[in-house]
Amino acid sequence: MIASDLSHAIAQLGDMIADASAIVPFTGAGISTECGIPDFRSPGGLWTRNRPIPFDEFVASQEARDEAWRRRFAMEETLSAARPGRGHRALASLYRAGKIPAVITQNIDNLHQASGIAADAVVELHGNTTYARCIGCGLRVELPRVRQLMQASGHAPDCSACGEPVKTATISFGQSMPENEMRRAADLARSCDLFLVIGSSLVVWPAAGFPVMAKQAGARLVIINNEPTEQDDLADLVIRHDIGESLSPFVHN
Ligand code: NAD
Repeated sequence: MIASDLSHAIAQLGDMIADASAIVPFTGAGISTECGIPDFRSPGGLWTRNRPIPFDEFVASQEARDEAWRRRFAMEETLSAARPGRGHRALASLYRAGKIPAVITQNIDNLHQASGIAADAVVELHGNTTYARCIGCGLRVELPRVRQLMQASGHAPDCSACGEPVKTATISFGQSMPENEMRRAADLARSCDLFLVIGSSLVVWPAAGFPVMAKQAGARLVIINNEPTEQDDLADLVIRHDIGESLSPFVHN
């Protein structure tokens, strides 16, 4: 059901939150747009300006790796300046109140952790771009170190331990989904009684399968997004409105 006006929708969401004992949020790029990070679809957005570099190309080509890292550092100013928005803060409030066991996110911006949610309660389906890992042995490498190595050699670095390429700790197109995170997300979707989709166009699969899974397991489903999604018909409540405005009544610092 699509809520007719915002105050009515917020009241309905408030009742659902009060009734629920385990709420699982599922967040996408839309929760971070008010923090200055463009979503996937906005025209001219950083993610859409260039064709994404698929994983096999990154592995095969030094040139592709150099380009991937140049793009990543071009976004650094935007990403490092971003602070949690009202949506993140509302979820952090519900987490502190014991209502949210964990958040499932497609985002790679680390803003749920920055809002005060423990890192092990953030299930990152697409990884995290605020640090890097060796694609061979998994060694973690911090970004200032990658920048230093790139500046010294002019090229994207390889791992100091095993020699394989170093990549942001994100899941690229063509890379397999992280098994542990997929399992945890499925368990969360099946065991919650309220599943909140926030700021996702629900077009990226397999991540977009989790709302269906939650609904089939008996949870109520709420979708907060300013444009329609393919799963709106499945939802108990659709709030087609700005996320920050919709969730600010639930921010309790
Ligand atoms: P998406 O860009 O496909 O969809 C975002 C949705 O949020 C859109 O439907 C948009 O209309 C809506 N939206 C944007 N701002 C909003 C606002 N203030 N209020 C209400 N709705 C708003 O994002 P997705 O579904 O997360 O898929 C994109 C993929 O790209 C993800 O898998 C993610 O890994 C990656 N990505 C991540 C980030 C990030 O980490 N912040 C940013 C861009 C893309």
